[in-house]
Amino acid sequence: MAFRPKRTAWYNVPQVSWGTMPIRLLPPDVVSKIAAGEVVERPASVVKELIENSLDAGASQIEIEVRGGGVNLIRVSDNGTGIPKDEVELAFQHHATSKIESLADLDTGTSLGFRGEALHSIAHVAQVDLLTRNKDDSTGTFVSLRDGVVTERGVRAAPQGTTATVRHLFRDVPARLKFLKSATTEGNQIANLVSQYCLAFPGVKFTLSVEGRDILHTPGSGRLKDAIAEVYGLDVAQAMLEIKGVASESGMVPVVNGYTSPPSLSRATRGYISFFVNGRWVQSRALAGAVERAYEGWLGVRRYPISVINIAISPHFVDVNVHPAKREVRFSQEPMVFNAVYGAIRRVLSERAPIPEFRPAAGFAPAPEMPELLSVERKPGAAGPLMPGPSRPDLPILRVLGQASLTYIIAEGPDGLYLIDQHAAHERVLFEKALAQQSRKAVDVQPLLEPLALDLSLKQEEALRTGGETLAQFGFGIEPFGDRTYLVRAVPAMLVGKGIADAVKEAIDSLEDEAAGANEEERIARSLACHGSVRAGQVLSQEEMGELIRQLEKTTSPRTCPHGRPTMIHLSAGRLEREFGRA
Ligand code: ADP
Ligand code: MG
Repeated sequence: MAFRPKRTAWYNVPQVSWGTMPIRLLPPDVVSKIAAGEVVERPASVVKELIENSLDAGASQIEIEVRGGGVNLIRVSDNGTGIPKDEVELAFQHHATSKIESLADLDTGTSLGFRGEALHSIAHVAQVDLLTRNKDDSTGTFVSLRDGVVTERGVRAAPQGTTATVRHLFRDVPARLKFLKSATTEGNQIANLVSQYCLAFPGVKFTLSVEGRDILHTPGSGRLKDAIAEVYGLDVAQAMLEIKGVASESGMVPVVNGYTSPPSLSRATRGYISFFVNGRWVQSRALAGAVERAYEGWLGVRRYPISVINIAISPHFVDVNVHPAKREVRFSQEPMVFNAVYGAIRRVLSERAPIPEFRPAAGFAPAPEMPELLSVERKPGAAGPLMPGPSRPDLPILRVLGQASLTYIIAEGPDGLYLIDQHAAHERVLFEKALAQQSRKAVDVQPLLEPLALDLSLKQEEALRTGGETLAQFGFGIEPFGDRTYLVRAVPAMLVGKGIADAVKEAIDSLEDEAAGANEEERIARSLACHGSVRAGQVLSQEEMGELIRQLEKTTSPRTCPHGRPTMIHLSAGRLEREFGRA
């Protein structure tokens, strides 16, 4: 079989077009094994099949015109290979295809069509005209069909490529006609469908006109961002974060590429999440679930990202032959694909998105410099020999089981269960981090793009006069701005994304709050930790909870928050056994 790199999808799998194979009838044993069914449900299905034929023919330009919601007219023109003149009529036979010869070809091929059903089916529910010129033919071929039968044929001048014109869809199938929605709704479905192909094939120049209006016009630049700009608008395209997958050496791991929105950009429906598997647009609740999971902790309830996700995977792992309209695919290694999608998005979000609670950059960098000896001195209760390694001797390695009441992390240790207060635990982590950074003079500072003007009380102004130097050591950049107004130009990085005005005022207040005990540094660190840490009521992903616990393990006093309240409750295995009457 002749493989010819042709399709202009941008992603990184070998693209093949099947144009050099003649059109043939599939053998009956193959026919009986392909997922048969209604290919043409509605006008959008016709558009889909015709676009896929154009793409399979290697077109770099595809023009689509729709009238009357697609019922009156659908016309798809391409500049692809065209159909050889002596195969044109064969193309309309049931199960005539140039794309596969046997089922085995489905395992290696990436053509969008393969069943040889579309032209045949469309010609039975509509009036079809086809004008095509194959690259090896000097003239074009024209055929017209009614009820699947050729009523007119001829030779015509034509550019290389194919134009299929479909009129009066379902005119003789009243059951179908009745089931269609308004022309506007059907037109919108077509526009959505074409948008998906624009996103899947940024290298192809698409134009779509609906009821005489130009709806879409992609440049065919090959840059996905340009296609996104056309489909979702320039501002969305500019905000989107790029997902750059790297092919594994074995080529066995799916490669995930595309764009996904930062958490600041979300929608109220899942309708802006698109998946393409080897260039094929697929709808999959499971894949959408992987994307939603990746945004856990970043997006609120019932908010969804805008995502364009291309999955390049060896065709061996994909079964495209499960749905008549090929809308769904089945993966033989489903968890591998979901993990690849989840991981790719999660990575981009944590690297590029404004920092949520537990990202290392905003307050979770481990504090390995914390001297072990000091920690033992500070903890009279610490038992056992001083072990090297990151874990505190009095906090075992914990495995996160889940989150309760959006407040407590449920974890399992070698001796029973632990309930960890997420806010208190994070406070402990940030408290020690702030102190460690201050004493090392290596504070993570976040300059503010816009200085924040604060009006201070007299008392606060007084506190700032005496304690301003210490505040600066923690990363606060505060300058007088006349009267009692001050400009905050920088804050400790752990406050990013928090209510900064309140945090600054409380830090200033803490300078004076001698009643709270402890020294000035500890009071500031405590107030920072309180403001910087995750709140009760906030959803945390498994990964974030795991990260929090790992950081907690590294603190010197993991069992209490800086205010002295417990960070965790331990239900020992023995206690559980007693309570359940097992012991
Ligand atoms: P399938 O796409 O599953 O092969 P179709 O009924 O859609 O079945 O098309 C039948 C055949 O007609 C294709 O295999 C292809 O050889 C040819 N064909 C259809 N549309 C085009 C086109 N736009 N350009 C080139 N060849 C086409
Ligand atoms: Mg087809």
